[in-house]
Amino acid sequence: MEYLLSKDDVLKLSYISQKIVDKQLVVGPGGNISIRTNNIMWISPSGFALDQIQEDQWVPVQIHNGQSLHPTLRPSSEIAMHLEIYRNRKDINAIVHTHPPITIGIISTEHNEIPAMFPDFVALVGKVPFIEYVVPCSTELANSVINILQDPAYNALYLKNHGLITLGTNIMQAYYRTEIIENAAKVFWVSKTVGTPRALLEHEIQEILNLEAEKYRQKLLERG
Ligand SMILES: [Zn+2]
Repeated sequence: MEYLLSKDDVLKLSYISQKIVDKQLVVGPGGNISIRTNNIMWISPSGFALDQIQEDQWVPVQIHNGQSLHPTLRPSSEIAMHLEIYRNRKDINAIVHTHPPITIGIISTEHNEIPAMFPDFVALVGKVPFIEYVVPCSTELANSVINILQDPAYNALYLKNHGLITLGTNIMQAYYRTEIIENAAKVFWVSKTVGTPRALLEHEIQEILNLEAEKYRQKLLERG
């Protein structure tokens, strides 16, 4: 193939794919992930479980025109959503789209968001907006997603009755955001079962964001 994914990128994509499956953030062939290297997006192929993807099965796609460069495999059917994000967010180099069950369960009710109940959620994820249900794999979904995620203030988005998208400057950061959000969903669920959940207050959130130790950790994570 004309385009080659670096060994380091292959290892990271395989590692994250395995984690996503092991932690049941998707089931079966659901979910898709991608990274950007220069003007190429490398995305998971359509029809594969993430943990079944071999080194030469990541699909290179030209970001400017959406043309796939893989000789045999098709890119994920959510290709339009990934392309729109890379075209509109120059700060983003990785996208993780999963179907985390507890997150989906909570956001597909009258709860449009999951409250920030612990520091890592504030420091590593931040505010997460939502969109109403849109049919998957459609340009309508890609448009609804980019309508919100073009704002660089956001690095994650809830898709009601569908799943979650998280973004990062690198694939580890994008993945950690998914893991933390599903963890926040569990914490909120448990809290609601045993009592009244207490979300962090605005001044507590500000305190976390101002911590020197947090700023250091952020810098490390952004380096990948
Ligand atoms: Zn999906």
